Amino acid sequence: MTIGVLALQGDFDAHRRRLEELGAEVVLVRKPEQFDDIDGLVSPGGESTTFLKLLDGACFRKLNDFVHSKPTFGTCAGAIMLARQVENPHQPGLDAIDITIRRNAYGRQIDSTIVEGATTLGGDPLEMVFIRAPRIERVGEGIEVLARRDGDPVLVRQGSVMVATFHPELSSDTRVHAEFLKLVKNGK
Ligand code: GLN
Repeated sequence: MTIGVLALQGDFDAHRRRLEELGAEVVLVRKPEQFDDIDGLVSPGGESTTFLKLLDGACFRKLNDFVHSKPTFGTCAGAIMLARQVENPHQPGLDAIDITIRRNAYGRQIDSTIVEGATTLGGDPLEMVFIRAPRIERVGEGIEVLARRDGDPVLVRQGSVMVATFHPELSSDTRVHAEFLKLVKNGK
């Protein structure tokens, strides 16, 4: 099982370490042809406007095809990239998952925080690291909510696409990445 981590910008290396810890083969994806050799993709946190600037035509097309056909996991800015609708300000989303997401909705960098929330993944509440996080304002039909923060969905899934508005790669808990690897294994 080979997982690609989009490595244009942001905290891709923390995802690489976590996925390797869980036994996955990981490639850092920077070129369009690399999308052909991976079974799943992680779109990491960073700055979504910067991702959009850095993605050249060929890479953007490959990314767009991939997220509509194969398992993909987006965190924070990576979640913003995958959303149907993006607000504050309005910007294009890849429409891989039927959510509306509002950027920087919990305040500025200084308002970044660590909270615990209940999860349907089983076991203890999940530690969740929020860094200039977006807020999921609307979930479409058929979206599964896997964790919440004060009522807000923060980890959601639709088919083979999963997104988190927090950074599971920065906590020692491996459940979220393990859940994604399960999705890839099931080939959904
Ligand atoms: N604020 C960033 C954005 O809007 C996301 C922050 C993050 O990925 N930690 O793209």
